[in-house]
Amino acid sequence: MGIADNLASVKQSIEQAAQEAERPVDEINLIAVSKFHDEEAIRPVLEAGQRIFGENRVQEAHEKWPGLKKDYPDVELHLIGGLQSNKVKEAVALFDVIETVDRPKLARRLAHEMKEQGRELAVYIQVNTGEEEQKGGCLPGEADDFIKLCRDELGLNVVGLMCIPPAGEEPSLHFALLRKIAKRHGLQKLSMGMSGDYDVAIRFGATSVRVGTAIFGQRASV
Ligand SMILES: *Cc1c(COP(=O)(O)O)cnc(C)c1O
Repeated sequence: MGIADNLASVKQSIEQAAQEAERPVDEINLIAVSKFHDEEAIRPVLEAGQRIFGENRVQEAHEKWPGLKKDYPDVELHLIGGLQSNKVKEAVALFDVIETVDRPKLARRLAHEMKEQGRELAVYIQVNTGEEEQKGGCLPGEADDFIKLCRDELGLNVVGLMCIPPAGEEPSLHFALLRKIAKRHGLQKLSMGMSGDYDVAIRFGATSVRVGTAIFGQRASV
């Protein structure tokens, strides 16, 4: 099976999961995660009509996407990996959505840089639902204050929440926790679910699923 076939079959599974969850399928966006894959792998996915993509490194995205975006100006590029403060300028210029806002210093820099560049990107707050030390995201207990800071004080366009459940753990509890936090802030969007668990995420209300391996195949290990 080629990459375009993989894409079609992922879309079909999303449709099925939506049906089972009794949700309209157009409420669920597919983010094709193209990290570690080159232009050659990405083009067939673009040709098949996919327009939302996720990358986890600013540098890598900067090498691949300016050319692709020229050919496909309606692409929506999401940053789904941790963002260092010194890469904020480049990230704001290149990406359309930042899904990994997780600390005050970063939020302030983003707000400042968006004003400088006159670009208002949609952002997600990443929540470290598993409270894992090595993982990005604000802690669940800090989420309320952090969301308020981003929205009310900094004026960021916070559209939703994002999480990456701990590997090897049942993800449902994490998805449910993210949904609960979003609900009490009136946030509509939930970015959750990857190749292994996007059907579960859809059952728990995901509005975007981030799928890499199931579309592009295995990544070279890092
Ligand atoms: C790599 C990555 C994905 C995609 O993972 P797959 O298991 O390949 O689908 C999703 N979200 C984030 C944040 C990632 O870094």
